Amino acid sequence: MMKIGTENREANFEALEAEARQGAAELTTAEAVENFRLAWLGRKQGRLKQLSEEWLQNAAADQKKLLGQRFNALKTLVESLLDEAVARSRNTGWSDEALRVERLDVTLPGTRRLIGAEHPITRTMNELVAIFAGLGYSVGVGPEVESDFYNFECMNFPPGHPARDTQDTLVIAGQERRSQRDRLLLRTHTSPVQMRTMEQQPPPVRIVIPGKVHRNDAADATHSPVFHQVEGLCVDVGITFSDLKGTLDYAMKALFGSSVKTRFFPSFFPFTEPSADVQISCIFCAGRGCRRCKQSGWIELLGCGMVDPAVFAFAAEKQPAYDASRISGFAFGMGVERIAMMKYGVSEIGQFFAGDMRFLDQFVG
Ligand SMILES: [Zn+2]
Repeated sequence: MMKIGTENREANFEALEAEARQGAAELTTAEAVENFRLAWLGRKQGRLKQLSEEWLQNAAADQKKLLGQRFNALKTLVESLLDEAVARSRNTGWSDEALRVERLDVTLPGTRRLIGAEHPITRTMNELVAIFAGLGYSVGVGPEVESDFYNFECMNFPPGHPARDTQDTLVIAGQERRSQRDRLLLRTHTSPVQMRTMEQQPPPVRIVIPGKVHRNDAADATHSPVFHQVEGLCVDVGITFSDLKGTLDYAMKALFGSSVKTRFFPSFFPFTEPSADVQISCIFCAGRGCRRCKQSGWIELLGCGMVDPAVFAFAAEKQPAYDASRISGFAFGMGVERIAMMKYGVSEIGQFFAGDMRFLDQFVG
């Protein structure tokens, strides 16, 4: 405790006042304010209590009154300093909690902000659309809940056609008993948009159709009941199979690199004639043969063909210019997940739909 002589009390009081002012100015937390109050005004251990007792004991009788007044003045000062400190903490909001939260250590690494990114399926679809947009294709869209007519019949799958069985169809609940042509279903392919587009506009048509499709497939490593297709349709005077081959060869090179080769095999789709399956040279082994291509050096990637005249006949009901004796066209379709799995080395299709950030984080940036 400060040794205080009675002979220079005025100086002593000034020193105490200065000390109190300085101490109060440094109060930055509620805890410090309370400690300051206890240190000066505490009833048992407070400095004013102890100093006043000590000084009054040693003071001459005629000085005790004056000394008492000085201690009261000092006590009033300390109390007002405390009030100011509390008011300041309220005004600036620096509670202990606020100080803890708002503390800024400029030497710490910054907080990493999560940046959104395109889902790998969206990215792949956009990439495909961009390739065909560069060839003058515009984007076609249509409903996911589709009528049997658009999904099957006008695409040359007549009622009872065995090819319907290859597309395990999800029929909208309550629609089972309607006539087959009228019932609603979840589209099994993006092909209905071909007809919806042709009904709306006369040839020439060049559209690329990205979209979600549904099939009643059991989920496994490469099958999902929901998946995505990118489909294309080109109709004009004088379109030939050579145009189809050139277009898809260009698109596959744009997608996988200029060293990729394509080859076409006869196939069957109800809405194209002739039809073809397209294989690309294996992007994993450059055609030498590996596990991914089953040692063949080739991977089957998409289906295509020349638009069947029967499809044009349906379009001609609303747009007579789709006269198969004057115009021709080709169509193609590919599974987006399959392409994304190849491009990004994904082995389970379900990972695209699980929403697991540990998987999706790989595609940020
Ligand atoms: Zn291979």
